[in-house]
Formats: sequence, C-alpha cells, structure tokens
Amino acid sequence: MAEVERILVDAMLGRLARWLRLLGLDATLLQRPPSQPPPDQLLLTRRVKLRGRRGVVFIEHDRLVDQLRQTVGLPGLNIRPEAFFTRCLECNQPVRAIGRDQAAAVVADHVLMTAERFTQCPRCGKVFWPGSHGQRALEFLRQAGAWPIHPNGRRGDANRSEIAEQGS
Ligand SMILES: [Zn+2]
Repeated sequence: MAEVERILVDAMLGRLARWLRLLGLDATLLQRPPSQPPPDQLLLTRRVKLRGRRGVVFIEHDRLVDQLRQTVGLPGLNIRPEAFFTRCLECNQPVRAIGRDQAAAVVADHVLMTAERFTQCPRCGKVFWPGSHGQRALEFLRQAGAWPIHPNGRRGDANRSEIAEQGS
C-alpha cells in the first residue's frame, strides 16, 4: 500500500487525533467526513454505515489505547520517532523551534529553567517543550504498541534527550 499522506479523523475521535498528531502524523478532524476519502488518505470513523468502504478504517474499540493500537498497526502509515512532538496537538500545524527568550514570555519560570528546547505552533501560538509530553506520553505509546517501533531494534532505547532534539 502507498504511504498515507493524511489521516481524516471523524470528530467523534478527537482524542485519538491528538495522539496521532503527537506521533507527527497529519490528522485532520472533520465534523462531516467524506464517505469516500481520496486515494492517499485514510478516514478513521466509528460510523457503521461507512464500514467496509475503500480508505475507511472502522475503529472497533472504545478505549483510547486500543484505538491507537488499531491505528498504528495500519499499513501505509509512516511512523518515525524523529517526527514525534513535531505537530501542534490542538490544530495539527507543524510546530517550529523558538528561542528561550521568546518562550520566556509564555511559559512559567520553572519550565524556562529546566526545559532545553521550545517549539511553538504558528497558528495558535501554543508553546511546547519536551517535558510537557515527556515520559508519560511515551509510556502510553508503549502500551498502544506505537513505541518502540521495532520491538527488537535500538530505537526502543530512545529517551527524552533524543526527543528534546526535535525542535532543532
Ligand atoms: Zn496550534
């Protein structure tokens, strides 16, 4: 299967969309999703009437961790650790690195003291730093089977300092 360029997410699956964005995937929430997504896109939905259509992934599960596990197992998704934490969780925009002085206007002093790098969403202005997602997020991804990506590979050893390199 060709690589999926974009994931359309039914508005009923908003939390799942945020976790896909955390993985760096282009996940667009739609109130009224198309019944037939374009060829290089996937639609995630729980609408039974769309089940079985080409490009439509019917999400089977109620629990978020199960939904995420089902999604990351789909063929055609390019999940790369270096893309983690590169999108705004709120609006799906790629974030960009900002300097400490710019972050100082927005984040609390203790964050400014401890975080190494900062990124900002160009659309909503929200500022992110590695610790704001941190180890708990990675632990959740581990439960969902999204991390480590290769069970026997070295990527499973990646830690926060590697994630912290994202902003550069
Ligand atoms: Zn944003």
